[in-house]
Amino acid sequence: MKSIGLLCSGGDSPGMNCAIRAVVRTAINEGLEVYGIQRGYAGLLEGNIKKLDVSSVGNIIQHGGTILQTSRCPEFKEAEIRKEAAHILKRKKIDALVVIGGDGSFNGAYKLHSEHGIPVAGIPGTIDNDISGTDYSIGFDTAVQTAIDAVDKIRDTASSHERTFIVEVMGRKSPAIALHVGVCTGAENVVLPSEKVNIDEIAADVQRGVKRGKNSSIIIVAEGEKEGLSHEIRENLKSNYSIDSHVCILGHIQRGGNPSGVDRFIASGMGYLAIKNLMKGENSFVTAYRNGNVVAVPFTECLEKKTEYLPQYINLVKTLSI
Ligand code: ADP
Repeated sequence: MKSIGLLCSGGDSPGMNCAIRAVVRTAINEGLEVYGIQRGYAGLLEGNIKKLDVSSVGNIIQHGGTILQTSRCPEFKEAEIRKEAAHILKRKKIDALVVIGGDGSFNGAYKLHSEHGIPVAGIPGTIDNDISGTDYSIGFDTAVQTAIDAVDKIRDTASSHERTFIVEVMGRKSPAIALHVGVCTGAENVVLPSEKVNIDEIAADVQRGVKRGKNSSIIIVAEGEKEGLSHEIRENLKSNYSIDSHVCILGHIQRGGNPSGVDRFIASGMGYLAIKNLMKGENSFVTAYRNGNVVAVPFTECLEKKTEYLPQYINLVKTLSI
């Protein structure tokens, strides 16, 4: 192996730059040439590829986003298009590919390997922490902290005015951010994407708090797949229970910002291991986080979304917010 390509794909997450830096510097240290592919699989198909050197990744460790940019490229699900991508890699003399992204991006990478024999390494990067086979994906800690900071601020004004706030956090399918933010902000209730909204229960939680003299209530809502869920809950609370509430949608601020120490540390370890393992001749693996360590695991273990539901967190939220 003489050269590697590197791309980010899917949603960006804080800490991707730390992984890029680690991949580039470890690879150069091993005597490899490194090619940065801009804008994910779409950029690969366009041949949007440039050589990176040690200083290309200087002064990026502290920045959110990704210097390589990222994209969604639905055509990559077509075998013919992947064949074209494999040709481009071969033509550019790129011997292996490192992909930073989520389970969707990993599916694309794994197919490049299984269909065309290209060695691939996957680095888990998504704020949702929802990739199977790894306890952690880069960006989750920072996104949770960003949401916690925002909810703490909302709690200040909610307490001053004795208000109920419905705070919507990211998570179309994944409950992870909502659950963590709910526990860490002392929320009165958490609404998860997989569940039917139980408006009676939310109202009961708010009313119980008012009765015992609480001067604010926070309901954390995972955005879910349907837009407008938080507003629907607000209208329901008003019309069925005469409870006034305010909606605050945190949105994309949760994707940005300087990566936390946890994200920088794990991303650096994952980038390093990706190259070390490719150099050993491993040709299809993900740098997963398991039991506190970064380890290489087969791609096939990381191609799905995590499905386990974490009811203990809901109980934790409810027990601690009485
Ligand atoms: P994430 O990687 O964060 O899960 P997506 O699911 O949006 O994000 O996937 C990112 C990109 O990965 C897609 O736009 C597509 O290019 C590629 N991809 C997703 N699923 C597949 C698949 N089943 N086969 C091939 N490529 C895929």
